Amino acid sequence: MAIPEIAQLFVPGKRICLTTHVNPDGDGLGSEVGLVHLLRGIGVDAIITNPTSTPDRFAFLFSDLPGVDRSAQAVKELRRADAIVVLDIADLSRLGILSSTVKDCGVPVACIDHHVGPGVLPDGPRFVDPTAAATGELIVMLAREAGWPMTAPAARALYVALVTDTGGFRFSNTRPRTLRAAADLVEAGVDTEQVYLDVYANAPVGRPRLLADVLQTLVIEEDRGLAWVTVPPGALERHGVDPDDLDGIVEHARSVRGVRMAMLFREMSGGRIKVSLRSVGNVDVAALARQFGGGGHTKAAGVALPGSLASVQTLMLDAARSALGAATFSA
Ligand code: AMP
Ligand code: MN
Ligand code: MN
Repeated sequence: MAIPEIAQLFVPGKRICLTTHVNPDGDGLGSEVGLVHLLRGIGVDAIITNPTSTPDRFAFLFSDLPGVDRSAQAVKELRRADAIVVLDIADLSRLGILSSTVKDCGVPVACIDHHVGPGVLPDGPRFVDPTAAATGELIVMLAREAGWPMTAPAARALYVALVTDTGGFRFSNTRPRTLRAAADLVEAGVDTEQVYLDVYANAPVGRPRLLADVLQTLVIEEDRGLAWVTVPPGALERHGVDPDDLDGIVEHARSVRGVRMAMLFREMSGGRIKVSLRSVGNVDVAALARQFGGGGHTKAAGVALPGSLASVQTLMLDAARSALGAATFSA
């Protein structure tokens, strides 16, 4: 793994841009913010340049980092960068409107990631490990190996990364080393209850109301173990919330006894349909998502497809039924 090569990019005075996937999540943002704090500890300044803006839920991560989130000027900043680090991304396409800028930047593009499957990225050192629960876990390893001091603000951000990508340490990606990394972070000063309050208990009232609307749409095919929910068109606007407020809803579909695969369908602003896939046991939803140009992890994957809600549902549900028919079940 390319830890020394990545660490060598971080030189005082160089312009370092950190970036993550569209609709950034707790792992992408927590990894970025954690890395910014760790780099400050060794005298290196980095900025964050994401393709889409930070959801309100994670704004608290930036409260002590004024001016670091330059996502609004991302193209300009990336063109001036001496090095770019892409986090929680396996493929350039996940950078949305920044894909071409990063592809043509001509500077090293390091990648720190935990997704499965091949992807295409520009040249640069790679620290990729699909057995890591979160990209944040890899940042903890990087800090240990490079000998960077773990500060309390870095630890808080990286803990957010671990908590969000493991569903609060409940998913099967929670391994001994994940919990050891979390223990190191708590030792470094994380207020775990405050993280819970910031991430999960600071919701706009529209979030539970949206949940209620989406759960009304639950359909279960018991014989196949397939469940899905659909975001009613216009629901986000009606409740004054953003796509981040959908996070975790698909888990309710997965939670039903006998379900082996769960999906959430929603219309995206660009006219495409986003499908979130989750599985139980040995059903590989990353492989299913890849058939349609998406990706992710064995038990949590996603894809965005052109077409109407109805046509994408028909396409994906048929593919899911075939995949479930082929898979043998062992939870
Ligand atoms: P989500 O359903 O958005 O929570 O995403 C679950 C997992 O699938 C995450 O690891 C994402 O990085 C990945 N993923 C989501 N959407 C896509 C997509 N359009 N292309 C590739 N991977 C995706
Ligand atoms: Mn992510
Ligand atoms: Mn992740």
